[in-house]
Amino acid sequence: MTGSPHPALRADLPAEGARVIRTDVLVIGDGLAGSAAALEAARLGARVALVSAGHGSSDRAQGGLAAATLPEDSPRLHALDTLAAGGDLCDPDAVSMLTSAGPETVRWLESLGVRFDGGAAREAAHSLPRVLHLRGDQSGSTLMGFMRDAIAREPRIGRIQGRLHSLLGDGACGGAAFSGGLTVRAGATVLATGGYAGLFERTTNSRLSSGKGILEASRAGARVADMEFVQFHPTVFEGPGPFLITEALRGAGAHIVDADGRRFIDELLPRDHVSRALAMHGGRAYISVTHLDPVVLRRSFPNFMRNCRRVGIDPLREAVPIVPAAHYTMGGVATDLDGRSSLAGLFAAGECARTGVHGANRLASNSLLEAAIFGRRAAAAAVGSEKTITNSYARSRVWARGDLTVGAVRRLIDSAAGVLRTGAGLERALAALRAGGLSESAADAADVATMICSAALARRHSLGAHQRVDEPAPIAV
Ligand SMILES: Cc1cc2nc3c(=O)[nH]c(=O)nc-3n(C[C@H](O)[C@H](O)[C@H](O)COP(=O)(O)OP(=O)(O)OC[C@H]3O[C@@H](n4cnc5c(N)ncnc54)[C@H](O)[C@@H]3O)c2cc1C
Repeated sequence: MTGSPHPALRADLPAEGARVIRTDVLVIGDGLAGSAAALEAARLGARVALVSAGHGSSDRAQGGLAAATLPEDSPRLHALDTLAAGGDLCDPDAVSMLTSAGPETVRWLESLGVRFDGGAAREAAHSLPRVLHLRGDQSGSTLMGFMRDAIAREPRIGRIQGRLHSLLGDGACGGAAFSGGLTVRAGATVLATGGYAGLFERTTNSRLSSGKGILEASRAGARVADMEFVQFHPTVFEGPGPFLITEALRGAGAHIVDADGRRFIDELLPRDHVSRALAMHGGRAYISVTHLDPVVLRRSFPNFMRNCRRVGIDPLREAVPIVPAAHYTMGGVATDLDGRSSLAGLFAAGECARTGVHGANRLASNSLLEAAIFGRRAAAAAVGSEKTITNSYARSRVWARGDLTVGAVRRLIDSAAGVLRTGAGLERALAALRAGGLSESAADAADVATMICSAALARRHSLGAHQRVDEPAPIAV
């Protein structure tokens, strides 16, 4: 255990080798969605077990949190931008709920002690300034520091370090089993395990963002949707120790060039378009700031300068190699507006959930907002739900078996389900995933990869972040 468990949890532990815990609400994952869920459930009087395996994407967020807080803005305008990014696949009710709840969610976070920087920034595809930052580009880690302080003050929340093995349940979820033999039995379970971009070889995510929660929900019988929609970030350093290069650098005049130093793209295009252009270009690509003022670069982009130095590159003299990398995943456990999955007793929030707010493509900076709003809503619904404690392990569905290591699965998914996809490439990947025997960890990776490739193969037309180059419809660059 990390931190001190609340008295009710402690009372339920067997005296020696504490392996079974009973609680009202189990929250799996302590990123922003899980933290918001745990705090809300505790506020409503529930005993909460909050289990996590380490830092996920919330701590990495740089840009900030989008909400219509300025007088010239409105939830309606925010909704229009969100719908334009996500296309026909957005659920308009979910989008309206998200954007309407934005300003109140900012006030809720402030009531917990969160301090946003003043003002709001305008970011790609937002028609107005509405992205709130915390300590500049350290938004995620700063926000999560405030959330952890708030959780530490809440005696009803017991924090536990653990890695999800499987959900408990037989037709309804009654908790979860974790590696090392820990079992948590709960009246309701909120899954907040993040997305699956970390499964890709090239990723901006932690390897923890592997889709494990979504996979176990699916194995237990919950409906999963939209797994083919993966957003790629165009400017990630290509080389050992990859790091994300902020879009603001392109806004400040950085050039994208080929190996001969020639520009081949409009750098100010949206993120997806730049990723596609890089993938279609095929050759090596670089971001160059050698023509920009060193004083401005040092002052405005300290992270970029520091990261370049760390990998032995002087960006004032040479161009920095870049490649698109998997960044955010739109698919996940299908939920209603209260985070309810199709499996009784199981709720999902944050990047592991498919709520309908992002559709085929997420509007940048909407995901932190979604995590906070849906985490709270899922907790409120979970606290009010039936108590369904069941005992059996749910392993009803196993998707794939292949003679592959985890590394091989990552490379496979990168090439078959990257920025540009073909039916033939997806079919080859699925055949490789189906052939042979696997270790347990590779089986999980292969099963999530199979879910992504199957969904991508089934969607024959390009839409949002899903681009099929074997499609008759021309793709926009
Ligand atoms: C580099 C980067 C920058 C970003 N910038 C922004 C931004 O500026 N604005 C924005 O809105 N979004 C941004 N995003 C996306 C955003 O950060 C995420 O979508 C959001 O934080 C997801 O929150 P979450 O709580 O759902 O999941 P996460 O924060 O990923 O947390 C997942 C939790 O689940 C736990 N977990 C995972 N697997 C297991 C397991 N098997 N067993 C037990 N626990 C497990 C982890 O330990 C962790 O506690 C960014 C993402 C990245 C990677």
